[in-house]
Order: sequence, then C-alpha cells, then structure tokens
Amino acid sequence: MTVTTPHAVRSLHRDAGERPFLVIWEITRACQLACQHCRADSIHHRNPGELDTDAGRRLLDDLAAYGPPRPMVVLTGGDPFERGDLLELVTHGTAVGLHMSIAPSVTPKLTATALGQLRAAGAHAVSLSLDGASAAVHDGVRGVPGVFDATLAAARTARDAGLRLQVNTTVTRANVHELPGVLQRVVGFDAALWSVFFLVPTGRGGQLQTLDADQVEEVLHWLHDVSDHVAVKTTEAPHFRRVALQRAAVDDVDTAFPPGPLRTRLRAATVELLGSLHGPRRTTRPPLAVNAGRGFAFVDHLGQVYPSGFLPLGAGSVHDQTFRTIYRDSPLLRALRDPSHFGGRCGRCEFNEVCGGSRSHAFAVTGDPLAEDPTCAHQPGATVAT
Ligand code: SF4
Repeated sequence: MTVTTPHAVRSLHRDAGERPFLVIWEITRACQLACQHCRADSIHHRNPGELDTDAGRRLLDDLAAYGPPRPMVVLTGGDPFERGDLLELVTHGTAVGLHMSIAPSVTPKLTATALGQLRAAGAHAVSLSLDGASAAVHDGVRGVPGVFDATLAAARTARDAGLRLQVNTTVTRANVHELPGVLQRVVGFDAALWSVFFLVPTGRGGQLQTLDADQVEEVLHWLHDVSDHVAVKTTEAPHFRRVALQRAAVDDVDTAFPPGPLRTRLRAATVELLGSLHGPRRTTRPPLAVNAGRGFAFVDHLGQVYPSGFLPLGAGSVHDQTFRTIYRDSPLLRALRDPSHFGGRCGRCEFNEVCGGSRSHAFAVTGDPLAEDPTCAHQPGATVAT
C-alpha cells in the first residue's frame, strides 16, 4: 500500500527544532483532588520552590521572544487556581502576545466569576477532565464525590464565559467502554476539541491498567470513526496520525482494517447514544504532527524543562538557561527529534517522521526514551509513506 494523502495529517508550519507549537507550564502541583492517574502526584500544598511570579513572567517573556508564530501556552497543575497570581500570569502572557489557556481542576474555586476573570484577562480556552460518562465512574477516578456534576456545570459556565472548551479524557482498561458515553457528553457541551489521553504508567497512573497495543489500535480507529462528531486529538498516542494516513489511503476502511470486538462494541454504543457512528461535521480536523520535544515541551513547577509531562527526563532548567536555548540545544530534545535514532519498529517505520511513537510510553516500559513504542501494533513495511 502506498500513502499519498498528506492532508490526512497537518504539518507544523514552523521549524519544530527551533520553536515549539505548544508549551505546557505546570505552575503548581498543589491540588485539592486526588485523581488516580495524576501525572504530578499532586499534593495539597504548594512547593516553595515553584517558579514565583517574577520567574514566571520571565518565562513568558522568553516564550514571547520567539516572535510570531509564538508557541501556545497552557497553564496546568496540580490546579492552577491554587496560585493567587494566576490572573496576573494570564494577563502578562496575553500582554506579551501569547495565546494563553488554562487546565484547571474542578473544585469550588472554579466559579463563574473566576472563569469570567480568566476570559477578561485574555485566556482563550480551558480544558476540563471527564473520565467517565457517569458520576460513579468519573468521581471514582477523581477521588472526590460530586466532581462529575461540577464538571458538567463548569463546562456550561466556561462556554457562557466565552472560553473555548477542550475536554480531556484519560482512557484505561477500566473506562474504555465509557468512551461513547463520554463522547456524547463532549458533543453536548459543544466542546471545540476532545483530547483522549492514553495513560502512561507514571505517577499515580502507574497503578492503573493501560490498554494493550491491539486495544489502542481499536480505540484509535474508533476515534477516527467518530471524529466528525467533534474534533479529536490524542495525547501519548501519536500513531493516531499513522492510522489517519492508512485510512485515507484505502477505499474501504472496514475491509482494510476490520473492526475487532472492542471497536465493534464502541461503534454499537455510539450508534445507540448518538444516533449514528458519523457526525454532522462535513470535515474532520486532521491530527497535527507534534511529538515530545518536537513541537511540544513541558515546564514543571520548579522550572525544569521536559519533552513531555509524562517523560521524566529533564532537558535543563530555566533557572540556568533560557527556555529557547534548552529547547533548541538540549541533546535529549535533539535526539527525540531525530527518528533515525529510534529503536525497534519505530526506528524502521515508514511513518516515523510523521508519528515517532510515544516516547513517554517507550521510556515508561523500557527505560529508554528512544526505544520502540510498545503501545503501537503496527508492523513496519506493509505501508509505504510518500
Ligand atoms: S511503529 Fe512507531 S513510528 Fe511507526 S506507527 Fe508505530 S509508534 Fe509510530
């Protein structure tokens, strides 16, 4: 099979070795929730070593100094609302030309007033987590009763405040069958984007069951099936792009990639809940070719730069160097941008330039960030990318 459909995947219109598309800054690890899959192993109190307001402003200035096109910035946690200077940081980032978004936890601090203030400060979007279609599942994951109902209310409030809404869902073996129900909620919210995160066994997430490679493949195909209901992106499953390219290259997807039991079940539940497998949008939003260290970077609460929040190998500290220098020159990030260094199937894969595999999953399972992605079922050689 030969792939000749580059429009199935969006390319970055910038040099990903020079400047990222997206920077996520964990402004604190403090959070009042105790989610089972928390990457940050969040705690109830702020760490005195967090980047303070002045250091945070300097980091934002550093990102703004890229000039257009500047990276998009997401302030995450923990819970960003645990910091009293959140509005000040959003205001400053906006003033220096950055596109600012927030990933808050759903706690009593997430009020209509707080969301309105964020919007007034210049924030464009918020992302809310929804890991189940029912209170029983979602509140079980989040560790606090009532969060599900509060999330539904927060989604409405965010939209009313004029904020673009992204919904984040972490998929594990325990909740994979909830996905059609979550999709129904996401569509009901009129969310702009659904980000489906494939659990990396790190932090508290190490205690949960990740999907195996065949299950991941089934879910990726189902996500593509339903991506005309809502724009979908995957986190830590870049092979969604390989799936998109493979599907675009065949006339009959089901013949080329026959649905297995999991996808069949997800499809049936989708039809039951939403009326049809496919949605009303006339076009789908092709996945963007961004990967850890290649268009994307993470800054932790202490100022350490990482390729991803789920790949705990530091590339340098913003206390010692500018973010721009670390991103461009770090040997780790440079290696992650060069698929010729990758091991196993990812090293010889015809899709490795556009996919590259989840470096976080590779590291979590093997200890080597350049190893093959164990969550991918693809056998290189059957498809030739052009
Ligand atoms: S083998 Fe690696 S590079 Fe190829 S599609 Fe799978 S994860 Fe991506």
